Amino acid sequence: MRKRKKVKSHVNLHHARTDYARGVMQQIEKDGVCPFCMEHFLKYHTKPILSKGAYWVFTENFDPYPGSKHHLFAVYKTHAVTLTEISGKAAAELFDGFNRLAKKRKIKGATIFMRYGDTDYTGGTIKHLHAHLVSGTSRQKSKEPLFTWIGYKSPSAKKK
Ligand SMILES: [Zn+2]
Repeated sequence: MRKRKKVKSHVNLHHARTDYARGVMQQIEKDGVCPFCMEHFLKYHTKPILSKGAYWVFTENFDPYPGSKHHLFAVYKTHAVTLTEISGKAAAELFDGFNRLAKKRKIKGATIFMRYGDTDYTGGTIKHLHAHLVSGTSRQKSKEPLFTWIGYKSPSAKKK
């Protein structure tokens, strides 16, 4: 029998935004698994799968940002945590997939982002690579910005 290596945690509880997300992540931590690896993904993820490509699974965020009308989510099908693990073909499929879904939903404007690497630098919760597409409403309908965490300000960075 192969000895199992002690696995590093796949989640960063410091960045859980809601009690709901924190609860799910605490369970994931107890289970000691990567929640975005496909063999575990559907156990924790309750939103419908919108499409599957060769490299990505497209779905909705299970805990969408408050104020978002669309919070689409793409999860890399293989366990990866850094950008260098993504091939050009995989990158193209990510954009194509988001493009198709945005067209289908008639999304007029949105933001795509993907955190990678050490979550202590990004505000990310799940380390396994995934990308977001977020869209709220227009400036004419709301003046309240839709914010998210993309990292920590460096005190040593010069102000311009
Ligand atoms: Zn994984």
